[in-house]
Amino acid sequence: MELCSTELCTGCFACKSVCPKDAISISHDGLLKTIPVIDAAKCVDCGLCAKTCPVLNDSESNIPNICLAAWTNNNEDQKDCASGGIATAISRVIYDRGGKVFGCAFDKDLNLDIRMAESLDDLERFKSSKYVQSSTADSYAEVKKQLLDDKEVVYIGSPCQIDGLKHYLKKDYEKLYLVDIICHGVPPIDYLKQYVRKKKCGRKVNNVGFRGNNDFCLTLYDGDKSIYCVSSYYDMYYEEFLRSVTYRDNCYSCRYANMNRISDLTIGDFWGLDKATLSEPYEGRVSEILVNTKKGQKLLEIVGDYIHTEPGDMDVAIQNNAQLQHPSVAPPDRKIFVDSFNGDFVKASYRTSIGKRIFKDKLRKKLPILFYIKDIIKR
Ligand SMILES: Cc1cc2nc3c(=O)[nH]c(=O)nc-3n(C[C@H](O)[C@H](O)[C@H](O)COP(=O)(O)OP(=O)(O)OC[C@H]3O[C@@H](n4cnc5c(N)ncnc54)[C@H](O)[C@@H]3O)c2cc1C
Ligand code: SF4
Ligand code: SF4
Ligand code: SF4
Repeated sequence: MELCSTELCTGCFACKSVCPKDAISISHDGLLKTIPVIDAAKCVDCGLCAKTCPVLNDSESNIPNICLAAWTNNNEDQKDCASGGIATAISRVIYDRGGKVFGCAFDKDLNLDIRMAESLDDLERFKSSKYVQSSTADSYAEVKKQLLDDKEVVYIGSPCQIDGLKHYLKKDYEKLYLVDIICHGVPPIDYLKQYVRKKKCGRKVNNVGFRGNNDFCLTLYDGDKSIYCVSSYYDMYYEEFLRSVTYRDNCYSCRYANMNRISDLTIGDFWGLDKATLSEPYEGRVSEILVNTKKGQKLLEIVGDYIHTEPGDMDVAIQNNAQLQHPSVAPPDRKIFVDSFNGDFVKASYRTSIGKRIFKDKLRKKLPILFYIKDIIKR
């Protein structure tokens, strides 16, 4: 059985979830990107995996006609959510109604799986953006189980994960709400794990922060204690993520990076928003919400006053969010990173221009005399 090419595979694993013979396992390519592998001894050639793969089949999408500027009215969430706390607000309201909420949180080994919240504590851990690929793990099958049990379900994930779920389910369910986050690409999880191993110097790390508290700093936590907190400009993992150097290769041709939205609601950062145009003064981070379907509109009605919403300028939203126009563009350093990658993320990153700059900055701090002499010779 032929699945889509490795270069285009998003790692949604709808194929694995649908296989009736458990013949598909998760492997890695040379850049440590997760890819499916079929065990020929188990495969019965039923073709279900290929019929389910979003890359090989058409996807249904909608062009939004409503754009909103929004933020949660929950003061605590305003502080530690990624942008306006809309994902968390939706999650809280659906959870309180007895519905089932799917999101992702790091476990103690820094695996990042999408799973169903079992408690309010899980919702806390779902909060904020994790700038690395999450795994859909067993979530697609669990969503189906909950829907068949007539439960209300909200699933929040990247557009390719949402599309994988839609192809897995094969039909729409009235009680299923799909929310996608605007996404400029994801590095494989092994990059983050290797990097954290290098940074933690023998200490425990069971959570990693990117946004919210310490916004745009890479923060490593041992429990509630931050043991490393460095601005994206000085942190190699974060900087290379923001510069689009380290994504899965398929992200550079992402078919979801446009205005054909795959979900009921799309949420992202409202970059470019002039806060002076807001109907009331607000200092916090503001989300943009694109309403893609009637169900998306209904979900917003359910969430009601838990969030503040007001009309947003669609043109501003599109112009200032490249991912609504085209996929991320690989910078020249991407080639250096790929060519020097030999299974070691940290070493390959040190080869890029940012890696070199950060390495030099560190050396300057440790051996100032060396640079002093070098500067004198230069003069
Ligand atoms: C890899 C990545 C790239 C992004 N790129 C952009 C961009 O280019 N432009 C833009 O406007 N916004 C982007 N975002 C979205 C933005 O950072 C916020 O996640 C979004 O605005 C939601 O904010 P919030 O305050 O409503 O979410 P919160 O209330 O803080 O909740 C965060 C939600 O996102 C989910 N989530 C976090 N990380 C992941 C992940 N790795 N995979 C799947 N789900 C995850 C959580 O489960 C939770 O439901 C990106 C997010 C990610 C994870
Ligand atoms: S063809 Fe059928 S049995 Fe074989 S891997 Fe695909 S889904 Fe599984
Ligand atoms: S279903 Fe998803 S993981 Fe499987 S081959 Fe297609 S894109 Fe890749
Ligand atoms: S950029 Fe596209 S393909 Fe890559 S993770 Fe985001 S939605 Fe998926």
